[in-house]
Amino acid sequence: MSRLLPLALALGLGVVVSVTSLVSPPAAPVQALAQAQVPAWLAPHRDNAAKLLSAAMADQFAWDRLAELTDIYGARLTGSDNLTRAITWAADTMRADGLERVRTEKVMGPKWVRGAESLEIIDPPHHVIPLLGLGGSIATAPQGLEADVMVVSTMDELQKRSSEVKGRIVLFDVPYTNYGETVVYRAGGARLAAQHGAVGMLLRSVGPMGLRTTHTGGMQYGDDAPKIPAAAISVEDAQRIHRIVNRGRKVRVRLKMEARFEPDVESANVIGELRGRERPEEVVLVGCHFDSWDAATGASDDAVGCIAVWEGLRLMRKLGIQPRRTVRLVLFTNEENGLRGGTAYRDAYAKEAENHVLAIESDSGVFQPARLGFTGPEAARRIIDDIGTLLAGIDMHTVGPGGGGADIGPIAQLGKVPMMAYGGDATKYFTIHHTPADMIERILPAEVSKAVASLAVMTYVVADMEERLPK
Ligand SMILES: [Zn+2]
Repeated sequence: MSRLLPLALALGLGVVVSVTSLVSPPAAPVQALAQAQVPAWLAPHRDNAAKLLSAAMADQFAWDRLAELTDIYGARLTGSDNLTRAITWAADTMRADGLERVRTEKVMGPKWVRGAESLEIIDPPHHVIPLLGLGGSIATAPQGLEADVMVVSTMDELQKRSSEVKGRIVLFDVPYTNYGETVVYRAGGARLAAQHGAVGMLLRSVGPMGLRTTHTGGMQYGDDAPKIPAAAISVEDAQRIHRIVNRGRKVRVRLKMEARFEPDVESANVIGELRGRERPEEVVLVGCHFDSWDAATGASDDAVGCIAVWEGLRLMRKLGIQPRRTVRLVLFTNEENGLRGGTAYRDAYAKEAENHVLAIESDSGVFQPARLGFTGPEAARRIIDDIGTLLAGIDMHTVGPGGGGADIGPIAQLGKVPMMAYGGDATKYFTIHHTPADMIERILPAEVSKAVASLAVMTYVVADMEERLPK
């Protein structure tokens, strides 16, 4: 297989794409590192970086752990027993890995329960449509909500046709451009439709065309409009309803949802560390979110991010590498429907915010081609770019803009902490994001190993280098 690896590298693929090749010695990335042009100041870190790269690429331990987490614990929505059990497993497993000061820190989180839900076209001909209620939606009446559908493609169109909205279910059939632009309809569409008198809201799922895939996700109501039930349907069904309406036909549907909030419940951030050998008070934070939506096992969003950042600590421990500064792993809870984990961490560590040297989050998948992003001052960026040269052997040496993450955001803002992100190909990521298809089958072991290698090397060098990363 070792003949495959240089070929893959020569093709710019970075790492091997076949699973079997991963079980052989990962000679090429380490050789590439040995031959790479690396700035002189990195010399003391080069051997350990090579060890980490080699260990990360040597097998599919990380993918196997991802499978264990997602197979055994499943979907991990805040307030679910699954998440509670997964948190216990994570803390136990971190201890077994030899991480230090492993603890769970209590966070109160919302408990939203989906319940049964269904959607059918009752006129013209009867047709059952797959749907996913949006997180935070209210229920319909038990007998369901029956109404005609009004289809719009933009918020402007809704405003212009305001007089037609009353008593109808508004369907936003909004073509996907990118997540940031299109997600505003998921977050605020129900509120806007209700302002004009709608009795329900349906959303064309926020994502590229899938296989009749439905995408859930968070939404908010406002005080200025009644709460109305809100659910996502597939791109295909949204377009179909739109085409029927464009032919001058009426579309009447029956929507049934049992969704509800129950009282807030106890959840937790899971934290483990490698204590710094010289400056333990200075912290390199690596994080992810451990909760997921309830439609699948959340393998890509964000179990794989958690396993990827966690592995860096496990490998350092296994290889006997103890950096100068503390590396702190945080599996944040409740990112998806509350961000309570990220805000609780900021509140608990407010006094130490200044001591956070760098905050890294992996919450955009690991699909190829992946990249590292950095946000921070220019002096720090030059150092990060230098460290990137150690990753040339796996084609991850170019660090782009766009560091950050929802969970690390609050502490980073408070402490003015530079941020990094690991992110995979956005089209692949958002095709399965918050859908029943977010399963480990979509993720290749080589993609996970590459994320582990990149994050481990970056984390190690920033934690170990002599000078603190400038703010
Ligand atoms: Zn996520």
